[in-house]
Amino acid sequence: MKKERVIIIGSGPAGLSAAIYTARATLNPLVIAGTQLGGQIAITHEVENYPGFFDAEQTPTGPELVDVLKAQAEHFGARFVFDEVTEVDFRGGPPFFVKTYGESYEADAVLVTSGASPKHLDVPGEAEFIGRGVSYCGTCDGFFFRGKDVVVVGGGDSAMEESIFLTKFANNVTIIHRRDSLRAGPALQKRAFANEKIKFIWDTVVEEIEGNGVVTNVKLRNIESGEAAEMPTDGVFIFVGHYPNSKFLEGQVAMDEHGYVITDEFMRTSVPGIYAAGEIQDPHYRQVATSVGQGVAAAMQLERWLSAQE
Ligand code: NAP
Repeated sequence: MKKERVIIIGSGPAGLSAAIYTARATLNPLVIAGTQLGGQIAITHEVENYPGFFDAEQTPTGPELVDVLKAQAEHFGARFVFDEVTEVDFRGGPPFFVKTYGESYEADAVLVTSGASPKHLDVPGEAEFIGRGVSYCGTCDGFFFRGKDVVVVGGGDSAMEESIFLTKFANNVTIIHRRDSLRAGPALQKRAFANEKIKFIWDTVVEEIEGNGVVTNVKLRNIESGEAAEMPTDGVFIFVGHYPNSKFLEGQVAMDEHGYVITDEFMRTSVPGIYAAGEIQDPHYRQVATSVGQGVAAAMQLERWLSAQE
């Protein structure tokens, strides 16, 4: 059993910012980073709404932003392990117990920033064709659709942002949305509507994804008229929201009915000494900037709590 002062679970913008602050407060944090550094932002192309960077040359990609945050955290003394948390025991702590695939730890305080993952449509063919035409990440897979036709499912910011990105590669991007108006904010809507390669199919859901080794077509249904249709396509990109990565926290901290960790204004969970920040506790804002702010706030509160314990 390894003894740690502070463990940060997750390495997205919230975890990395908390690592910078707790490291600067000389708490020598250990970041259990998951298998991929950076969380969702690491698979995002341009981060053009993070305050401070405004022109095309300055705008960092997701991986660039993540690398610089990690370097900053390490500069102040944060340590990183690339492993996944499988189990925690926060009852009766401190010390709090955290188990990963490779190690068992105890810690005086824990900050959970394990984020959220993309939701699936749960339609026939979806699971079968993941990696063979079905994708949840335009930045990761867009390149494979050079000169091809793809559909995007969803009407939120992610669907618009990713559709615009996909037009760099695909011939045509058809956005299929279940309503007749978008959830996405006005700026992204405007850019999507102005893009000649993007078309929209409204009031429509994908009922099945079909293929022959790779995706070849989708079966659609207009939910107003009930009319069914088939559409040939080479790829199906799905952006229909997220679910929190909180399974390992069940029974340990209070969560809402969707599995988001409940925190108060000081980023405290229901267990003193356990804090949470970023998308694991925020179904509303989900911005790099808000996750960074929440990570900083949680780190400051955690540091105050630890000082008060001494
Ligand atoms: P979201 O805002 O929850 O949008 C999900 C979209 O998928 C909605 O249009 C929803 O339709 C649709 N949908 C949900 N379940 C579906 C289903 N089973 N079948 C078909 N369609 C379905 O998710 P998001 O776009 O990932 O954005 C999440 C958060 O991150 C938001 O707060 C967003 O502002 C933020 N974000 C911001 C940026 C940015 O600012 N650059 C970029 C990406 C994400 P309805 O509209 O009918 O509910």
